[in-house]
Amino acid sequence: MPVRQVAPHSFYVEGVLAESSRANQGFMSNAGFVVTPAGVVVFDALGSPALAERLLEIIRARTDQPIRRVIISHYHADHFYGIPALRAAGAEIWARTEARAYLNSDAAQRRLAERRKSLGPWLGEHFTLPLPDRWLSADESFTLGGVSFQLQRVGPAHAPEDLVMRVEPDGVLYSGDVLYAGRVPFIGEADAGHWLQALDRLRQIPAHVMVPGHGPASFHPADDLGLTARYLRFLRGEMARAVADFLPFEQAYARTDWTPFAQLPTFEIANRANAYNVYLQMEQDALQP
Ligand SMILES: [Zn+2]
Repeated sequence: MPVRQVAPHSFYVEGVLAESSRANQGFMSNAGFVVTPAGVVVFDALGSPALAERLLEIIRARTDQPIRRVIISHYHADHFYGIPALRAAGAEIWARTEARAYLNSDAAQRRLAERRKSLGPWLGEHFTLPLPDRWLSADESFTLGGVSFQLQRVGPAHAPEDLVMRVEPDGVLYSGDVLYAGRVPFIGEADAGHWLQALDRLRQIPAHVMVPGHGPASFHPADDLGLTARYLRFLRGEMARAVADFLPFEQAYARTDWTPFAQLPTFEIANRANAYNVYLQMEQDALQP
């Protein structure tokens, strides 16, 4: 589990760039931790209690301070399944109320069934979907050991509840899955239009470093925000044009010149599904009166 320090108090562990699998034990997302003289704040819980145990060892190797709080960026399996281990270590878990809709959904149960199959040994026999100790319904800030933490909802973007954490004086923003540095994002079911609005909100938050939910930290947040925004705008523009021309998706995809983004690391695995998702969204938009 590679650990990186990005500022005096701020660290993160970096998951591999891949889908969750038995081979990587589900370690394909990042988790952050901020060490203060009065305790540790963790951002995201990784994809299993076993992974969160390893994160705890890494934190223990750096400080004797207790883990006070865990802030969950959004309720996707790779970011919250590790909660039980962190709670057992004494931390209080905070998450946004919008995550309730996901917890009560069939999608959450289907994901759990799939992860039990693929990550069973690391989830443990009695694993159930872990709830937070505290539901947040407004933006919050607090100070711990002279370090200030600002929690702000920027979603709906990647998920309805997307929450980011700003740490000062470090100038660090933990951005969850709303920002991907130097790569093509996985849009999934998300609405690309809402996502663009979230990027605008993110742009208002001053930070020298952004630690995303996947992949390396960005030391040029404005550039990376710009790249993600350009990509989303491009997808929406091309797919809207295709819908207006009554072009089927396959032809729309084939005629699009993807050159500006084709060199990015996750283009091959993410772009086609992203384009299809946005095509469907544009079709829906066109049907709105
Ligand atoms: Zn994720």
